[in-house]
Parts: sequence; structure tokens; C-alpha cells
Amino acid sequence: MDSVVGVLALQGAYQKHVDSLARLGVGSRLIRNPEELDGCSALILPGGESTTISLLMQEYGFNETIKTFAEAHPVLGVCAGMILMADEVDDDRVKPLGLLPFKATRNFYGRQVHSFTADVKLNFDENVFQAQFIRAPGIEKLSPEVEILATYDDKAVMIGSGKHMALSFHPELTDDIRIHKYWLGKQ
Ligand code: GLN
Repeated sequence: MDSVVGVLALQGAYQKHVDSLARLGVGSRLIRNPEELDGCSALILPGGESTTISLLMQEYGFNETIKTFAEAHPVLGVCAGMILMADEVDDDRVKPLGLLPFKATRNFYGRQVHSFTADVKLNFDENVFQAQFIRAPGIEKLSPEVEILATYDDKAVMIGSGKHMALSFHPELTDDIRIHKYWLGKQ
């Protein structure tokens, strides 16, 4: 199988995902137009500003391409990327892809000034993950068929269904590659 992971690079924190993937020995490709997804085995939607990324995705015709891609390939959504994966968002400016059945609430964990690091309990590893929350979105109206992969303050902050995963915090900002590795194991 082709093992090039696409990283959507329209805006935001995409470069650090390239580094995390490299640490795992996995090749990556920055995606700036829909055609570049051809030949990719998986896709990361990074953090950033979900309203801006959504606008650019619509401008470049990404929405349908990603929806089709996601039928056969894993997608990982981080922070703003998580918002884009929802089927409902509390901000009309974002046109979500509907890849996972939940509602995303923007800035649920505070604005920029309220960014923080917290130990998060993973359900696939006994050691906690030091998670960085940056104006992080919340997960609400979660459909019961979706698996909760990590919790913070008794609330889901990482979820998965089938090949797809979405998380409120930024795993790429640490040297800890367990989350990328777990997601890649779904391929
Ligand atoms: N608060 C941002 C948004 O709603 C997401 C922040 C992030 O990706 N770190 O788009």
C-alpha cells in the first residue's frame, strides 16, 4: 500500500504533523489542491482557524473530494480539523464534512489566552498523554456508535469511528507519537 499521508496545508499548524509522521518513518505530502490527494493513503486535517480553513476548502473545491476520499481512507482531524469533521458546528461560517456524527462547539475550552496543557487518559494505552489545548473545540451530541478514545474532565476529547479519528487537542506539538501511531494502525 502507498504510505504517503496527506496533510491539508491551506492554513494552520500542518508542518508539525509532517514531523510527527517522519518520526514514525511515514512519508507525507502537503495538500494545497484536491488533485494532490491522489495516491495518498490517509489525510490529516490540522488545527488552525476552522472558519478560514473551511472558506479555503470551499474555494478550492475540497469538500466533495475529501468526503469521497474518506469513504476508503482514514482521516484524522485535530482541533480546527476536528470541527471540520463534525456533522454540525455552532458557527454557520464553517461548512463541516460530516465524517463523524457529533456537534463541534468552537472555543469550548477557552480562547487563546486560556490555552493549557493537561494529562489526558487514553483508552488504548495505560500512560496518560500530555495534551495541549489551544482554543480547543468541544465534542457534543456524540452519537453512541462513536468510540470515546480519550477523556479530560470526564468529557470526550478524542473520538473514533471506523478509520476516522478526531481530537480537541494537538498531539503534533509534543514528541509523543502514540496518537498518530494508533490512528495509522487503522489503515
Ligand atoms: N478555535 C479554533 C477554531 O475554532 C481552533 C483552534 C485550533 O485549531 N487550535 O477554529
